Amino acid sequence: MAWVTSGSASKFPSDEARWSRRGFLLTAAALAAVPGLPADPAAAAAELPDFPADVALYRSAYRNWVGEITADGLWACAPGSPGQVVDVVNWAWRHGWRVRARGAAHGWSPLTVTEGTPSGAPVLLVDTAPHLTGLALDSPAAVRAGTGVTMEALLTFLEDHGLGVTAAPAPGVLTLGGALAIDAHGTAVPARGERRLPGHTYGSLSNLILSLTAVVWDSRSGAYALRTFHRDEGDSAALLTHLGRSLVTEVVLRVGSNTRLRCVSRTDIPAGELFAAPGSGNGRTFASFLEEAGRVEAIWFAFHRAPLAEGVERLPHPAADLPARDTAVQLPVLRQRPDPGGKAGGPYDVGGGLVSGAGARRRAVRRCRARAGGHTVR
Ligand SMILES: Cc1cc2nc3c(=O)[nH]c(=O)nc-3n(C[C@H](O)[C@H](O)[C@H](O)COP(=O)(O)OP(=O)(O)OC[C@H]3O[C@@H](n4cnc5c(N)ncnc54)[C@H](O)[C@@H]3O)c2cc1C
Repeated sequence: MAWVTSGSASKFPSDEARWSRRGFLLTAAALAAVPGLPADPAAAAAELPDFPADVALYRSAYRNWVGEITADGLWACAPGSPGQVVDVVNWAWRHGWRVRARGAAHGWSPLTVTEGTPSGAPVLLVDTAPHLTGLALDSPAAVRAGTGVTMEALLTFLEDHGLGVTAAPAPGVLTLGGALAIDAHGTAVPARGERRLPGHTYGSLSNLILSLTAVVWDSRSGAYALRTFHRDEGDSAALLTHLGRSLVTEVVLRVGSNTRLRCVSRTDIPAGELFAAPGSGNGRTFASFLEEAGRVEAIWFAFHRAPLAEGVERLPHPAADLPARDTAVQLPVLRQRPDPGGKAGGPYDVGGGLVSGAGARRRAVRRCRARAGGHTVR
């Protein structure tokens, strides 16, 4: 099974909230692009006096992707601009509230809120995805992006301009701000004999930051304010990856020319062989694929004999023999509802089908084709 794409590939679905009505209802508030209902002004005024009038405010449930961290009825807001973010932070500081940015709530760690945070807790969620979504090229090798932009939107924008990054985290729904906060990454190490292309780096997304704008304390004005940090400033180091203990509104990232990749997925290598020590076996170890491709991942539903192993081949530009995709790539095996509980249609369900052989793989590809319009999967 093989896909062809230009380099900026994102493989997880961007429409998880549509997978089930119940799932949508549970997670709608957690998906920042869908803010909650506007707050009753009287209730809001009573509980959050003097809150900036022009910032959308609503009650919201928090639920992370895996459902292990949930909290009901927290106050949340969706600032329309970096300036409004500052207004919100200063309001919180003056009223003794804690501010936490929320992206796509795909975090596994209790960085935004902890499990069971009570609804009356003075924690204000700041949803970045509704409005902090600007995208523009600063130069042919630098993109300026609001931190609420999704990875998929960012990579698609870059692709439209012939640009890309060496590697990115798999899900397209992650916000850039959430990804940078935890040093998110794809798999990118130099393959054997590979030479780094201009504008590209290996390592995490944060390694691409040229400058970032964050809300920081300004001692001159005695309040929080926006400040732009350039990569060569010592203080920027603390903000490149801050585990959510900052609020970043915008970044400028170094980007390079797009590269075309062919994603090769394999489900025929038993786990014992794939994960064997480097140098062992007949060259089908994870280590050997990594050395060969520089980008490789394995997803192992632990009760299966064989993991899903994926590597890439870098293609000449353009690769005349293969149809190109013009949108981000989705993995059929993971284009399923995100319910880790193993319900029908979930990743466990489809993963179970994969080991049973070619028939299941064909069905997964057919499902993918149907969803993607029939022209994306070879
Ligand atoms: C199914 C799945 C697959 C994943 N795959 C990968 C992968 O391939 N590679 C990888 O590296 N990671 C991966 N992750 C982890 C993911 O990158 C992180 O959890 C990331 O933080 C999620 O981004 P988010 O937009 O959901 O942020 P959230 O979960 O909403 O927030 C995460 C943290 O970032 C902070 N934050 C969000 N926006 C801002 C901002 N503008 N300013 C400051 N702080 C902010 C939040 O306050 C919080 O502390 C995966 C997660 C899941 C659920």
